[in-house]
Parts: sequence; C-alpha cells; structure tokens
Amino acid sequence: MNSENFDVIIIGAGPAGCACALTLADSGLSIAVIDKEKTPQEKICGDALSKDVINQIEKLPPVIKSSFNKIIEKVPSSGIRFYSPESECLEISFESAGKENISGYICKRTYFDKVMVDGLKEFPNIKLFENCKVIDVRADVTNVSVATELKIFNTKILVGADGANSLIAKKLACIENDKKKLCLGMRGYYENVNGFHPGNYIELHFYKDVLPGYIWIFPMANNKANVGIGMLAGDVSEKKINLKNLLEKFINENPDISNRFKEAKQTGKYEAWRIPLGTKKREISGERFLLAGDAASLVDPFTGEGVGNAIRSGRIAAEHIKKCFEKNQFSEKFNRAYDKEIYHRMWKELKLSCTLQKLFKHPKLINYAIRKANNNEEFKQLIAEAMQNTDVKKRFLKPYSFYKTFIR
Ligand SMILES: Cc1cc2nc3c(=O)[nH]c(=O)nc-3n(C[C@H](O)[C@H](O)[C@H](O)COP(=O)(O)OP(=O)(O)OC[C@H]3O[C@@H](n4cnc5c(N)ncnc54)[C@H](O)[C@@H]3O)c2cc1C
Repeated sequence: MNSENFDVIIIGAGPAGCACALTLADSGLSIAVIDKEKTPQEKICGDALSKDVINQIEKLPPVIKSSFNKIIEKVPSSGIRFYSPESECLEISFESAGKENISGYICKRTYFDKVMVDGLKEFPNIKLFENCKVIDVRADVTNVSVATELKIFNTKILVGADGANSLIAKKLACIENDKKKLCLGMRGYYENVNGFHPGNYIELHFYKDVLPGYIWIFPMANNKANVGIGMLAGDVSEKKINLKNLLEKFINENPDISNRFKEAKQTGKYEAWRIPLGTKKREISGERFLLAGDAASLVDPFTGEGVGNAIRSGRIAAEHIKKCFEKNQFSEKFNRAYDKEIYHRMWKELKLSCTLQKLFKHPKLINYAIRKANNNEEFKQLIAEAMQNTDVKKRFLKPYSFYKTFIR
C-alpha cells in the first residue's frame, strides 16, 4: 500500500475537524483532513445552531461566515419555549435579555457542514480525503501512522475529530465512553407541524418520562420541523425504553401537541445516535495526538448542544499545534497544555450544565420554576439573562440565590 506524509492529519470533517484545519490554514503547514463519508453528509442532529456557533464561525476565515449567510434553507430563531411536565409554557425572548434578538438558527447540518467542508477547499495547503475510512492508528515518539482503506498516512501530529464513536479516542486515549453517562438522541423530520411562535422559537418539552432529557420541536425552513428526543442512555436501557414509541406517545397523548401534528407528515425515518456529554474532565491528548469535539466528549450536558464546543475545541487544537511546531514539541507532556486550555475555557459552563441536568430530574421543581417565572417578570428576566451569560447562571445556582429564587 502506498503512503503519504503531512505535517498535521485531522480525522473527521465535522465542525471540530474543519474548524481545526481552517484555523491552521495560515500556518504554512501541510494538512490532511480525512473523512469516511463524502459531503454532503446527513448528520443526526437537532439542527439548532446557537448564538455560540454563530460567534465561533466569526473566528474562522471570513469565507465561512459569508457562505453560511448565503444558506437559504435556514431560519433565524429569536427565543425559546420551555414546557413543564404539566405542559405549562414559558416563553423566553432573547430581546428581553437586552441582547440581539436572534439567538441562533435552525439549519440542517447537511448545509452547515457543507459550508465548513467547502471552506477547506479554498486553501492549497489543506488536502481533503473523502470516502476514506480510518481503520487503525499508531502513535510513538517519532511518528503517527494512520491506516485507511485507501492508503497509509504519516504525520507529526494527529487530531481525532471523528465524532461520538471515535476510533482515535479508543485506540490512542483508551477512552471508552461510560454508557450510563452518554445521552441517546433520536430525531425525525416532519412537514406541516403548526403552532410555532412567529419568531421561530425552539421548543424544549420537559416531558416527565424523559427527564432530565427533553423532547424538542424545532421549526425549520420550508414548513418543516426537526422533532426529537434526548435521554440518558442508562435510563433508556434500565427502563427498556423505545425512544420512537415514547416520542409518539408524547405527540399523541397530549391534545395540544396532537392538534399541532394533525396535518403533519413525517418525511424519512427516525435516526438515533450517541451524544457524549461533557460530564467530567478526561485526558484528551497524548503522545502526538489531540482529541476535539465529540471525540473529546464536550457536549453541553443540559442542552445537548455540541456544535459550538466542537468548533471551539477545533480552534484551540489548532492554536496548540502551532505551538508544537514553533517549539518542535509533540510529547504527551507538552500536549497536556491542550487539555488545560480546553477545560479552562469550557469547564465552568459544562459544570453548571451538569448541575442543571441533576436539578431537571425533578418534575415538581420544573413545574414550580416555570409557574413562578410566568408569574414573576423579574424571575423570568433572570432566566433570560442566565441563558446568555454563564456568570448570571452561576450566581443563580449558588445555594443562597437558589434558596432566594426558588423557596422564598
Ligand atoms: C440526535 C442529536 C441531536 C443533536 N442536536 C444538536 C443541536 O441541535 N445542536 C447542537 O449544537 N448539537 C447537537 N447535537 C450534537 C452535535 O451533533 C455534535 O456535538 C457535533 O456534530 C460534533 O461535531 P464533531 O465535529 O465533533 O463530530 P461529527 O460532526 O460527528 O463529525 C465527525 C466526522 O468524523 C467522521 N468519521 C468518524 N469515524 C471516522 C473514521 N473511522 N474514519 C474517517 N472519518 C470518520 C464522520 O464521518 C464525521 O464526518 C446533537 C446530537 C445528536 C445525536
């Protein structure tokens, strides 16, 4: 089998891998991005791109933002509807938080990921290999060798951005995901669901049988909707839950919801995938390798959002790689600085989301909080601010503030 050498090899052309390559575009290094699929690729996702994702793509080369702006199959969303287990609705507009009124977009990942992959083609030092599955990888102090179905690749440093079922995480970091801590997500597409907020608010339904997960209904372009369910994998296996049956039970048993689906038609079938939650700090680097995005388990444990942190971690990996080449250092010890930087930038938010995830196991607490917010404008405003600002969220969850807000 023939072989090819690159300074940097990135496995996975999702948001994490592309962000890493794009951030390295100006480095002069030779970069290979390898993916087992060919773009456009269907991804199993809620398709919600939060404001954080929009902020992250602004930090990538300008071609990404300008191509993203040209996607016509996306809708802007300016708020969230939370539904309590008792089906009471709380509407939070991002305008009321005194910030810009668009919180993000709902955009099918096929279109979003294509923008990122097409962006790679703008840079001559980045070579994209599609339909090229990595089957084995070995790293030692001098080299990383990547075996694919096409050929062998060699590199000085490897980035594992190969998603939730990462081969690189298993082979090089010896990370086996704790199945109980994983979340399982399933999504389907519908046409003609009615009753959405005119500002395309995303909807999170805290249905009692799903807690601390939720069911989502997200409005999309062309009168479509992304409808899905996310639940802890441990609960799914312990309670022998069939996600499709549970989602359909939710749609059919609640008159308000079944009314909204009266004219609706499902297009395609439900598809499920794992969501690796950032519930603990892991060792996400080693001798000549770094992990980014889902491969490093960086999904927000409360919201299930992973695209923002995938891009952020890809960018941080690229900045670290630039330092590796400056200092000619690729060792496990040197790469620990990458883990440190990742958790320095993300752990505060992930930890808060873990706390929220634990609180949202309790249906009575959610019912109470949503009722209270609907009757108390100040409390509602605090929730709106907490959703956009980690420091407000943190203050909100401190024992004394928690007592003051919830109990008194
Ligand atoms: C049901 C569901 C709903 C979700 N909803 C949302 C949401 O609404 N908003 C949000 O922000 N996040 C959501 N997420 C999470 C989000 O999809 C991920 O966090 C995000 O895709 C991570 O990006 P990534 O680049 O790390 O990995 P991926 O996007 O998974 O990319 C990994 C790439 O690696 C490639 N690859 C894998 N193995 C190999 C191999 N052996 N050889 C070569 N290539 C390989 C794959 O083909 C893929 O292109 C959801 C996840 C699920 C499952």
